[in-house]
Amino acid sequence: MNIAFIGLGNMGAPMARNLIKAGHSLHVFDLNTTVLAEFAELGAQISDSPRQAAQGSSLVITMLPAAAHVRSVYLNDDGVLKGIAPGTPAVDCSTIDPQTIRDIAAVAAQQGVVLGDAPVSGGTGGAQAGTLTFMVGGSPEHFATLKPVLEQMGRNIVHCGEVGTGQIAKICNNMLLAISMIGVSESMALGNALGIDTQVLANIINTSTGRCWSSEAYNPWPGVVETAPASRGYTGGFGAELMLKDLGLATEAARSVQQPVILGAVAHQLYQAMSLRGEGGKDFSAIVEGYRRKS
Ligand code: NAD
Repeated sequence: MNIAFIGLGNMGAPMARNLIKAGHSLHVFDLNTTVLAEFAELGAQISDSPRQAAQGSSLVITMLPAAAHVRSVYLNDDGVLKGIAPGTPAVDCSTIDPQTIRDIAAVAAQQGVVLGDAPVSGGTGGAQAGTLTFMVGGSPEHFATLKPVLEQMGRNIVHCGEVGTGQIAKICNNMLLAISMIGVSESMALGNALGIDTQVLANIINTSTGRCWSSEAYNPWPGVVETAPASRGYTGGFGAELMLKDLGLATEAARSVQQPVILGAVAHQLYQAMSLRGEGGKDFSAIVEGYRRKS
């Protein structure tokens, strides 16, 4: 297929490389000319705007930082919707708020273009290995069109419902992840302060009712899980800054439907404070450091 791929950052670049490996012909665009040069060497066609990338492509994929970038890449004068042919499918894989993608999809629909959302989980490791989970929002027909291509970048391709529901799934999951990580942090720190061996405590939690992914696979206490970022100085995982962004999306979406997210709002504030302390670059499990006595 001729695929337009726009946004070749930490996630987009490895995803696009997997599509090239699978034999697709890519038309790529990014503001970063260094990454474009790398893709030229891989045989991709370099476009000078999202509009040009979309022209003649049979699928458009975008992977951008935030809602403002997605809006401009689709809606600007040199945007995707100015170049894409009617009937061509498009999918945005960025993590943004559900309303923005619904709004852009409505504009796209006026010119016969079907746009869906497919945010991912699995991080940069999953993007490189082609094992991402895609949470797809769009019609069943759109999902059926996208699935074979998404399978070349991911392992779990899940249809969540109409456009926007992929984003809903993503922000609800990540809000719960933040809350559970904070809960495990409090619990581990309390146990440590009261004098129990933290490995023993983690083993009890992981075979008892407090068991969760944040404790079992990604325990925030250093040394408890050898493969977790906590055991390597909170590097190389899911950055606290990205978690802060997702919590902002969750609390904002909750506000739009007047739904209380009490623990989600507290989690948002805790990650905001972590960012303010200059620790946003650490893995999000470093939230536990706020509960540890400095020795
Ligand atoms: P990134 O900042 O590394 O990459 C974004 C890319 O978009 C950059 O190369 C940037 O130059 C490009 N870009 C920005 N504005 C542009 C424009 N107007 N036109 C063309 N290109 C433009 O971000 P990332 O880590 O790749 O994340 C992308 C999305 O995926 C985000 O929404 C993020 O929340 C989400 N996400 C990231 C991770 C992760 O672990 N990094 C995991 C899951 C989801």
